[in-house]
Amino acid sequence: MNQYIPMQAEIVDIDVESSNTYLISLQLLGDVDLSYTPGQFVMVSVMGLGECPISITSTPTRHTLQLCIRRAGRITNGIMDSRIGDVLGIRGPCGNGFPLKEMKKDILIAGGGSGFATLRSLINYIVDRRSEFGKAAVAYGARTRQDLYFMQEYKGWQRAGIDVGITVDIGDERWKGNVGLVTSLMDKFEIYGGSAAICGPPVMINAVAAKLMKEKGFDHSDIYVSMERHMKCGVGKCEHCMIGPFHACQDGPVFTYDKLTRIFRSLGEV
Ligand SMILES: Cc1cc2nc3c(=O)[nH]c(=O)nc-3n(C[C@H](O)[C@H](O)[C@H](O)COP(=O)(O)OP(=O)(O)OC[C@H]3O[C@@H](n4cnc5c(N)ncnc54)[C@H](O)[C@@H]3O)c2cc1C
Repeated sequence: MNQYIPMQAEIVDIDVESSNTYLISLQLLGDVDLSYTPGQFVMVSVMGLGECPISITSTPTRHTLQLCIRRAGRITNGIMDSRIGDVLGIRGPCGNGFPLKEMKKDILIAGGGSGFATLRSLINYIVDRRSEFGKAAVAYGARTRQDLYFMQEYKGWQRAGIDVGITVDIGDERWKGNVGLVTSLMDKFEIYGGSAAICGPPVMINAVAAKLMKEKGFDHSDIYVSMERHMKCGVGKCEHCMIGPFHACQDGPVFTYDKLTRIFRSLGEV
């Protein structure tokens, strides 16, 4: 598959996840196949507007390709203003994804805000291949109840034996769940020394990683972080997404926490 030439994908379904976020289902057109792994992303293009990186939120264990899009600016607005039957360009899959073969069987997944979109792929992969994994837990936090993604799926994850903790920063009279930081959910999880997958704002990533290492016996090399850097080409050419000597679009977006710490230390940013 030519990594420079977009495939065509027809929008076959649109679900509203929150006031500014849609879950878009796509059908690739023509005789093409997109094999991907959880944690990878695609470059999505809208004719006349340009292209931007978007995580694949579906799991490769299911047929439909899904993207969860949050309104940010020109291109994401263009994607969200599209209708069922419209065609988008898709280049990829890009990046490395989560190294499922190297990861330990017990997995803790922690997401904050829109970063949770990329983790849904891994969660549903675990649901579909449950016997290949051990204990699994999900800790997810959003600003308010209205900002939570994939609410209709939490019960299914629990039925698959995944411990699910959800929290919001600001509660309201309709929210009966946890109010507080994602880290506050993790005490009840009976996972010690497994692998972790994290995506969210840097402050949340650091807080979750610190707690996992100090209180849960995780090694920093078993903590995998998905990094959302500004990127343009998605194929390691334009250098917009460099993290030290690494291209986030090709060497990442998933890095181990120890690698990230070493890079940022060498850049004098820690
Ligand atoms: C690996 C990766 C995976 C991503 N996955 C998703 C996803 O699943 N769903 C989704 O909605 N978005 C995702 N994004 C972010 C998305 O690419 C940006 O929101 C998009 O490029 C913005 O383009 P725009 O033209 O709509 O807005 P612009 O007008 O270009 O930007 C609007 C605002 O968003 C900020 N912005 C632009 N790009 C990024 C970025 N990479 N990270 C943080 N802020 C940014 C700009 O600084 C500006 O403030 C991902 C980004 C990366 C790098």
